[in-house]
Amino acid sequence: MMAYDDTNIFAKILRGEIPAYRVYEDDRTFAMLDIMPQSDGHTLVLPKSPAENLFDLDPDSATAVILSTQRVARAIQAAFSPDGMLLQQFNGTAAGQTVFHFHMHIVPRYENQPLRGHSRNMADSELLERHADKIRQALNDTA
Ligand code: AMP
Repeated sequence: MMAYDDTNIFAKILRGEIPAYRVYEDDRTFAMLDIMPQSDGHTLVLPKSPAENLFDLDPDSATAVILSTQRVARAIQAAFSPDGMLLQQFNGTAAGQTVFHFHMHIVPRYENQPLRGHSRNMADSELLERHADKIRQALNDTA
C-alpha cells in the first residue's frame, strides 16, 4: 500500500489552504460540490482522516462517511429532485481515481440527461455557489 500523500488537493482543502464549495462538515467528515460536476448537485463526501482509498479507511471514518453521505444525499434529493441518485467511489488509477484522498461521489441522475465527463469541465463559480446554497438550505431544513 502506498503511503498517504498529504499534498493532494483534498488534504489541502481539509487544511483550509484551498477554498471549496462546502455544503456540510462534522467532526469526521467534510462534503463539498465537485467543481467539475457530472450533473447538477454532484457532491463529494470525504473523511477527515488521511485515507487514500477504501482499503485504508478506519471503521469509524467508514461509518461516518456513509452516514454523512446519506444525510447529504437526502438534502440533494430535497434540493434538486433528481430522478435517481448514483454513489460512486474509485480506488486506484486503473479504477479512475485521480485524487488520492478517499471520497464518495453523490451524483444525482436526471431522466434523459447523460452524465457529463468525469473530471472534465469546470463549472461556473456562481452556479456552484447557488447550488451549494440550495444544498446547505435543504440541510438546515432537515436538521
Ligand atoms: P476521482 O479521484 O476519480 O474520484 O476524481 C476526483 C474528483 O474530484 C473529480 O470528480 C474532480 O472533478 C473533483 N475535483 C478535483 N479537484 C477538485 C476541487 N478542488 N474541488 C472539488 N472537486 C474537485
